[in-house]
Amino acid sequence: MQQRLEIKLDDRISERFFDCVHCGLCLGQCPTYSETGDENNSPRGRIYLMRGLHEGRLAPSDPVLRHLDLCLDCRACETACPSGVRYGSLIESMRGRLAAAGQARQTVSRSLADHFLEKFMYEVFPYPEKLNRWLWLAKMGQAIGLNAFLHSSGLIKLLPDKLQKMESMLPPEIETCDPLPLHAKPAGKVRARVALFRGCVSESIFGPSNWAMWRVLLANDCEVFVPRGQTCCGAIHHHGGRQHEAQEMARKNIDAFTALGPDIDAYVTNVAGCGATLKEYEELLHDDPLYAPRAKDFVARMRDINEFLADLPLKPPTEPVPLKVTYHEACHLCHGQQIRSQPRMLLKSIPGLELVELPESDWCCGAAGTYNLTQPQMSTRLAERKMINVDATGAEALATANVGCMMQLMQHARLTGRKVRVVHPIDLLDAAYGGRGSVEAIVME
Ligand code: SF4
Ligand code: SF4
Repeated sequence: MQQRLEIKLDDRISERFFDCVHCGLCLGQCPTYSETGDENNSPRGRIYLMRGLHEGRLAPSDPVLRHLDLCLDCRACETACPSGVRYGSLIESMRGRLAAAGQARQTVSRSLADHFLEKFMYEVFPYPEKLNRWLWLAKMGQAIGLNAFLHSSGLIKLLPDKLQKMESMLPPEIETCDPLPLHAKPAGKVRARVALFRGCVSESIFGPSNWAMWRVLLANDCEVFVPRGQTCCGAIHHHGGRQHEAQEMARKNIDAFTALGPDIDAYVTNVAGCGATLKEYEELLHDDPLYAPRAKDFVARMRDINEFLADLPLKPPTEPVPLKVTYHEACHLCHGQQIRSQPRMLLKSIPGLELVELPESDWCCGAAGTYNLTQPQMSTRLAERKMINVDATGAEALATANVGCMMQLMQHARLTGRKVRVVHPIDLLDAAYGGRGSVEAIVME
């Protein structure tokens, strides 16, 4: 019999339960409800379950936790909800309470693989120096043909599902880059002064996209700074319910960026998931009297790179990039930050590029932070649904502004034998300014 635990949310959060009028308009936009047809896997159903836990009417039994764990935290329900229910804050706070109550988020069937994965997610992913050591090992494995052998011999199938998924997320060739310089001035008159957020996984695995952002900002006459001492945005911990660690990371980033002084016009990131979390620092630090006002100023300057360039406004790129491209909207860009038109506008500004709309473009691809590792089956179903839509467009390239989506979609395209190239919109823009050696590099790769 399940032990009854006290799982109460703060009043500030729990009062948001009452915003839900049970209309059900969110159901049709929820990927997990659409895939399972089970109302317990819908926003309305989960709000009911969470309220039951909060009010002590429900115990955190395995089935209840399974329904909550299956939530992507994609926040499509927030966009759909006419009552303005802030679902993301409810599920994240509930996960925090469950973790604090000793019910770690992935409570169901916690195997050795689960423990390894959890350690990796929280203690390696957010720290580029640790992640780089693991990536070096992975590169060695690739270089001596170990990965290829594991696959060709079928030995890879002996690993638990979640570890297989983790192995398959690695790009077939990991490209290492020099770190970004700490400062650079543009050739022309400075239009804006910006500080870059490097990211953790993005810097280690998608270093070339960080360099593309750097070059595009310089091409747009921005003076660029990379603050020392910055760290992971805290998204992995925040979404996993580890609020204290997320708060500590938020404080470090606020210190690092504000050390540059008040003359910086914007803090910029090219990762939608990081941007959504960085913009939530005021809420994350609301009970810290020292940092709450500093967080407010930090958030006021925080911009996604697409949003920043569209507002600047963009200097028209001149190099043609003759590609048929479709655009997948990362959940934390479209639902989390309501940024929809700007990436499309940037892509449309590229000469020679044909942008075709993607059906269900704002439907989660199943990456959802670390969801693709913790819930591999649902994640793969959603990746396949996304790719079927991509196939229908006939696009040669799929642009998306989030490294998590890029890894997920690259992996799924590779495993299913699809040829579509997955790129960041800023990679394409960089090519259109003549970056990365030549436009041919992006078109022919
Ligand atoms: S966050 Fe996404 S998966 Fe979770 S309930 Fe809302 S729409 Fe469904
Ligand atoms: S979350 Fe919003 S859309 Fe969904 S049932 Fe409640 S009020 Fe309706």
